Amino acid sequence: MKALVFYGNKDIRLEEDWPEPVPGPGEVKLRITYSSICATDIEEWQFGPLWVAHGEPNPISGRMMPLILGHEAAGVIVELGEDATGVSVGDRVAIENVITCGACFWCRRGESAVCPSMSVFGLQDDGGLAEFAKWPADRCIPLPESMPDEEAPLSEPTTVALHAVRRSGVSPGDNVAVIGCGTVGLLTLQVLKASGARVIAIDRRAEALDLASQLGADETLNASDGEYDAQVLELTQGIGPDIVFETAGAKTTPVDAIRIARRGGKIVLVGIYTATPEIDFNLVVGTEKTVIGSVAASSGEYAMAVRMIASGQVDVKPLISAKVPLERAISDGFERMIRPEKDVFRILVGSG
Ligand SMILES: [Zn+2]
Ligand SMILES: [Zn+2]
Repeated sequence: MKALVFYGNKDIRLEEDWPEPVPGPGEVKLRITYSSICATDIEEWQFGPLWVAHGEPNPISGRMMPLILGHEAAGVIVELGEDATGVSVGDRVAIENVITCGACFWCRRGESAVCPSMSVFGLQDDGGLAEFAKWPADRCIPLPESMPDEEAPLSEPTTVALHAVRRSGVSPGDNVAVIGCGTVGLLTLQVLKASGARVIAIDRRAEALDLASQLGADETLNASDGEYDAQVLELTQGIGPDIVFETAGAKTTPVDAIRIARRGGKIVLVGIYTATPEIDFNLVVGTEKTVIGSVAASSGEYAMAVRMIASGQVDVKPLISAKVPLERAISDGFERMIRPEKDVFRILVGSG
């Protein structure tokens, strides 16, 4: 089969004759309909391997690179392995991409999002940038009739947003700021609106802010003129936001997030940081702010994300910037994502 294989730093290859996966016990074989390319894939390609299993095999999958990328994926079940239950051949599904060990200190406390053995489809095991994949049947989330295949891979970044919002403990009526209006920022905004919060969207790009307004932001704030503390205060009756979500992942944005949160407020860091910010921790101590991190998702949140998209609470359509076949995933996908005038949210790879 055709597959996009990650061999290491700046080395992704389209393989024409890669072996097709064979489903083991409890697993299914899927024909991939669409996968989306994420900023994480670009970071792996340009700066990695970071998260992709390398050096020693992942303890759950037993795999390490070379691996097929693609952790945001959907497909149609074409074959059931021995004892695979709960799904049938022909089902359209989204791939819940995280497998945790179930036995470690964290898994047993219900904090599986930080399981140190975690295996993620397309990062620690073969993923969806291929014609076929295999995955456990109980991690395949059937798509509601009304949900097109194109939207299903976007369930993955939606779970990231959903997990972050659930960790924040947001309440209806809270004033919330979201820094960064990329894919995860715009999904966080929509999950927050569904939770009854009032949301201020912050970015440097006018088009991203237009889209934020269209997707429900109560206020938008253009941060391209430097510090914007005064404007945030003005929008929050001189108090500051109860919660600030940092999704931009830039060098200074986490510091901005901590600074603009109200006294006693909360900061949720969702970005992945390639630069190390400098911060005066008195910003946290002197005002009793709470800073929390959020990564991936917990079991059950994937099905919630699929439901929120299918019900229209989260609209992923504006985040699909292009659709390209697997053969052109490198030239029209990965290479387009690193252009300096990057004008895309998610690029879908596949032919449906
Ligand atoms: Zn991703
Ligand atoms: Zn575990």
